[in-house]
Amino acid sequence: MSSPPVLFHDVACPFCGMICDDLEVERAADGLKVRRSGCGRAASAFERKLPPSSPMIAGKDVPFAEAVAEAARLIGSASQPLYGGLATDVEGMRAVMALAERTGGVVDHAASGAQYRNFKVLQSVGWTMSTLTEVRNRADLVIIAGTDVQALHPRFFERIVAPAESMFGVTPKDRTVVVIGEGLEKAAKAARVGKVVSLACKPTEVGEVVGVLRARLRGFSLDKVKFGGVTLAEIDTVAELCRAAQYGVVVWAPAAFDFPHAELTVDQLAGLVKDLNPTTRFAGLTLGGAEGATTAASVATWQSGYPLRVSYASGAAEFDPARNDIARMLKAGEGDLLVWVASYSPDFVPPRTDLPTIVLGTPGLKPPKGTQVFVPVGTPGVDHAGRLIRVDSVVSLPLKNLGRAALPSVADVVSAIEAAL
Ligand code: SF4
Repeated sequence: MSSPPVLFHDVACPFCGMICDDLEVERAADGLKVRRSGCGRAASAFERKLPPSSPMIAGKDVPFAEAVAEAARLIGSASQPLYGGLATDVEGMRAVMALAERTGGVVDHAASGAQYRNFKVLQSVGWTMSTLTEVRNRADLVIIAGTDVQALHPRFFERIVAPAESMFGVTPKDRTVVVIGEGLEKAAKAARVGKVVSLACKPTEVGEVVGVLRARLRGFSLDKVKFGGVTLAEIDTVAELCRAAQYGVVVWAPAAFDFPHAELTVDQLAGLVKDLNPTTRFAGLTLGGAEGATTAASVATWQSGYPLRVSYASGAAEFDPARNDIARMLKAGEGDLLVWVASYSPDFVPPRTDLPTIVLGTPGLKPPKGTQVFVPVGTPGVDHAGRLIRVDSVVSLPLKNLGRAALPSVADVVSAIEAAL
C-alpha cells in the first residue's frame, strides 16, 4: 500500500543561488511535484526521476562500504588530491575542507573562474554591496549590467525587481530598470516595472560604457559620441537617472563576463557604485551562486581564511588563486587524484583528465570513463536536509528533507571516507 501524498510548505529551492523559500512541493508515490511558486528550472529539478544507482568501483556495482574503502585507499595513497566540483551544501563543504586539510589536498569550486572576477575586485579595492532583501524593498533604480538575469534566476524579476509587495513605499511601478547589454530588456519589459532604458552593447563593451557613464557623472566632456554602439546621449540619460535615484543598485553576474581580464569590467561596476554614494545611495548586487558556489566560497573562507583555491600541501592553508586553480592544474598535469563532488545536477560532470577520479554524484550523472570510484549522493533540500548560503552571502537557508530517495549526503560519504583513512 502506498503512503498518502505529503505537501511541504515553505520549501527552499537549492537549484540556483536565489534559494527562493516559498515553494510548495508535494511528495506522492510517483515522485515530487512543485505545486506552487517555483519556476521551470525548479520544476524540472525537483521532479526529475532518479535512475537506479549503486556505488561502483571501476564501473562495477559494489556495496557502499567497499566503495568508501577504495576511495579512502586512493586518497590515502595520493600525494596531492584535488577536491573539485564542490556542488554541495554547508555540511558537505565542511567535510570536504576537513578531508583536504588532513590529506594535503587542493580545494577549488568549478565556478571559481567566474567568482574570481569578483573576488579580485573585492580583495584589491573593496566594494559596497546590497542584498536581495534590500533591493526588493528599497531600490528605485536597478541597473542590470551584461547579465541575462532571467536565464540565471528565472524568478529575479518576480521576487526582487517587481514583487507583489515591498516595504518603504517603493512599489514595482515606481522602479526604473536600465539594462546594459544586448537583448536583455525583454525580461524587464515582461515584468511589472516602470521605465525601461536599454544601452545595447556586447559584454566586452560594458566596461567602456560604464567608464563613460562615470566620466559624465564627474562632468567630463568627451569628443567621441558613440561607445560600443551606445551613444553619449543615451549614456547621459542614464547619468540623469543615477543622479535622481534614492537607492540605485548595479546588478551583475561575474559569469556573464567570460573574457580575459573581465575583472576590469567588475572594477568599473564597483567604481560606479562608489562614485555615486557621496550624493545618493547606491550599492552593488552580484548574482550567480548555483551548484553551491557561494556556499563553497563562504565555508572555505570561514574554515581556512581564504575564498577557495586553497592548498593544504604544506600542512597549512596556502592561498594562491592562480596556482591552485584546479582546471589549470589538470591541464598542466599537476595533482595525482581528482575527487569530484556534484550533488545537484547530473550534467555537472568532471573535466576530462587522465588522473584517477572519485565521483560523489547525484544519480543520473554519468561518471567519465576511467572513474575509479562512484558513490551516489543525495541532493540537499530534496533527499536530505541541509543548509545553503544565498548568492548575496548574507544568509544561510535551511533546506528540508523531502524524502525523494534514501541516499547519503556528501557530508556522510566524505566523513565515512575520512574515518576509513
Ligand atoms: S529562481 Fe532559482 S531558487 Fe527560485 S525557484 Fe527558480 S531555480 Fe529555484
